[in-house]
Amino acid sequence: MTKENRLSREEFLKATYLMGGAILFGGFTENLADFSIPALPGEKDPEKEKGLVLNGEIKEILSLTPRLSFDKAGHLLHLDDNQILPVSLVQTGNDKYRRQDEGEKIENVLLMIHHFDGGAPRRPFASKDRTADTTVYGLDHPNWSLENVSTPTVHFCVDNYPVNPEGNKDAGFGILQSQKESGNVMHPTKGQHVFIGINRANGMPDINKKNTLSFMNELEIVSNLGDQKMGDDINSYSLGYEQVGWYFSRSFPEHFPENRQIANVFGLSLAVSAEYKLGPWDNVGHHEVQEKADPGDEFMLLIRYLYGVSVFRGLIDKKLVFEDDSPKDYFGKIKNYFLARAGKHAAERYKKWNEIYGMDRFINSLPDRA
Ligand SMILES: [Zn+2]
Repeated sequence: MTKENRLSREEFLKATYLMGGAILFGGFTENLADFSIPALPGEKDPEKEKGLVLNGEIKEILSLTPRLSFDKAGHLLHLDDNQILPVSLVQTGNDKYRRQDEGEKIENVLLMIHHFDGGAPRRPFASKDRTADTTVYGLDHPNWSLENVSTPTVHFCVDNYPVNPEGNKDAGFGILQSQKESGNVMHPTKGQHVFIGINRANGMPDINKKNTLSFMNELEIVSNLGDQKMGDDINSYSLGYEQVGWYFSRSFPEHFPENRQIANVFGLSLAVSAEYKLGPWDNVGHHEVQEKADPGDEFMLLIRYLYGVSVFRGLIDKKLVFEDDSPKDYFGKIKNYFLARAGKHAAERYKKWNEIYGMDRFINSLPDRA
């Protein structure tokens, strides 16, 4: 196709829609029939029209957010300007091994668990950030060994590069799928990324999930985390992803991921939300369910902030994010939840975070009822 007769992005998307995904892209056409195309991020500025004040950081993240969706088999697809391709597949050893006996399937996806991989984003003397395939390597070579527990595995890994379906260790991946598609998007193969046991320091039962649920109850927050049938078996009801990096909360924002990586995570979260009808409170950090540091309260606050502002861009169903609350109540809740769980320096931590992302100004620009 020459430059002259290349369709514009809008024309292209319209054409794909009308043809029901009949355009040929490798071997994936059969799965594109019910492929839904969300609104384009960053192409309009509805906040400005409504008098809402969204700061530059948030606008940049939204403009970098990739457009992703699943096909029926469970491939995560990336929509580029002129093509739809599945993201790279780099399987974890755990996933490869158990494919032989058809790993167990998730019956109902209730949660999306957010992690970081715990390694420095850039190796000493390296000129570029590490890529997501090193996360897979890390999962295959954990620095612990538990008897009768195989190596961990997650569904996706994310790095600080543009989404690249032909990714490699030099160009990066943006997002890669680290477990093979199961054949049925509604029943992905189970991951192994949350191991709730006892607190290794004091031998007491791990209480983070319990604490999270009580903070949520106090603020009348509804989350699938409270679903009775799940109990502590979170792996059987959740998708999980790892991202490059460590210590997001420690001396914030020193180790916090860059906007590109946050955008990749958020694009993935939106695709998961659309497919499984998960809201912002069904997206939980590993530290919210287990006594771990990843990814930390600042990170989950940002993800929930992005969920809220996405409603104004038409990127996600309003009801899924705000439920019966007004937008003002929703943003107030995510702030109060952070303050409740972030410990004795919560107010100071919030102030630092808010200086970067400007949520208070955004809240003040919202009408009382909208
Ligand atoms: Zn984790």
